[in-house]
Amino acid sequence: MTKRIAILGSTGSIGQQTLQVLDQYPELFQAEVLTANRNSHRLIEQALKYRPDAVVIADEQEYPTVRDALAGEPVKVYAGAEALRQIVQHSSVDIVVAAMVGFAGLAPTIEAIRAGKAIALANKETLVVAGDLITRLAAKHQVPLLPVDSEHSAIFQCLQGEVMNPMEKIILTASGGPFRNTSLKDLEEVTSTHALQHPSWQMGAKITIDSATLMNKGFEVMEAGWLFGASSAQIEVVVHPESIIHSLVQFRDGSVKAQLGLPDMKLPIRYALSYPVRLPDPAPRLDLARLGCLHFEAPDTHRFRNLALAYQAMNQGGTLPCILNAANEASVALFLSGAIRFPQIARLNEEAMESVATCPEPTLEDYHQTHTETVRYIYQRLGLSGPR
Ligand code: NDP
Repeated sequence: MTKRIAILGSTGSIGQQTLQVLDQYPELFQAEVLTANRNSHRLIEQALKYRPDAVVIADEQEYPTVRDALAGEPVKVYAGAEALRQIVQHSSVDIVVAAMVGFAGLAPTIEAIRAGKAIALANKETLVVAGDLITRLAAKHQVPLLPVDSEHSAIFQCLQGEVMNPMEKIILTASGGPFRNTSLKDLEEVTSTHALQHPSWQMGAKITIDSATLMNKGFEVMEAGWLFGASSAQIEVVVHPESIIHSLVQFRDGSVKAQLGLPDMKLPIRYALSYPVRLPDPAPRLDLARLGCLHFEAPDTHRFRNLALAYQAMNQGGTLPCILNAANEASVALFLSGAIRFPQIARLNEEAMESVATCPEPTLEDYHQTHTETVRYIYQRLGLSGPR
């Protein structure tokens, strides 16, 4: 049976790689819904190639462009955030690939779960902000949350066949980013051009900066906590610059299982879409003898403060992770626009965590309010007007 896929964020890095996976197996998968924020040009190209049932452009100003370009095509065109929430509920959708970036992915993911759709989850911010709510909803609607993040896919793969064996510890690997060996002093001079050059992975701008600050790893610690029911004490981060071991699980007999592979996001995307089946793929294979050696070291939470902040937020819970996520979204956008320096990202994140009011048992509404309040806090703190 062909699985019909909705890709939230089809114009982004994960979205485009998901479409490449669909290209490989046209008899198994069909693009049913494609969505973008503002990139109408790429969305139109994708719509003409894949002929989905519908496309959604979140930015309503881009609606006329998409509508006119697809006039006469059998593709429905919608616009706006409300359309995103509605489209994922469509009866013709089997799997929703949550590949939008940031807090914006939360609302459509919730609607998709409520509609009983399987979720292939790339948008880790959804779990960082509202992991309690998302995991409870997924359990209630018996919806699988299939990890797309390579580390979480690795853990998920290591846990197959281990139902009787509770894991003792998760070991999350981190590439360490482009500034692994950069001194605190030199980090002050880092530009966005430097920071956007990740040593192992080609990704969207926000996650690339998050990888350089280790915020991404911190978010992954929280994501792993929610996906696999692990406490912060059970999740260890180890820097592994080659990005060959994607993560490991340790069991109570001391055995450690790892998942290895060449860095290629199409593998975890493919596994999330085809789970529990592994589909054949002709991509180059791992050659350990040629690699020779792999390296490991402890992360430096002094130079990369965001990782420590993530553990702190995870331990306190409530809206503190939401504050960290919102502050980080705002500070990364400000760094990319040249308004702040690289080390200010973590400083602003920490300040927001100390300054914005927290709530111990938040509702969805509380998360929305906290997000807005935190972004406002960051812009006001710098004397700037808010984002578009
Ligand atoms: P990109 O920035 O490349 O793509 C983001 C996608 O989301 C684009 O399609 C973008 O549209 C859309 N989008 C952004 N903001 C909104 C909004 N407000 N409303 C609607 N759509 C929006 O990001 P990535 O693909 O790199 O990452 C996506 C998610 O996957 C992130 O949460 C990231 O952490 C996670 N992830 C990514 C990995 C990677 O290798 N890239 C690896 C593991 C996880 P437009 O193009 O119009 O801007």
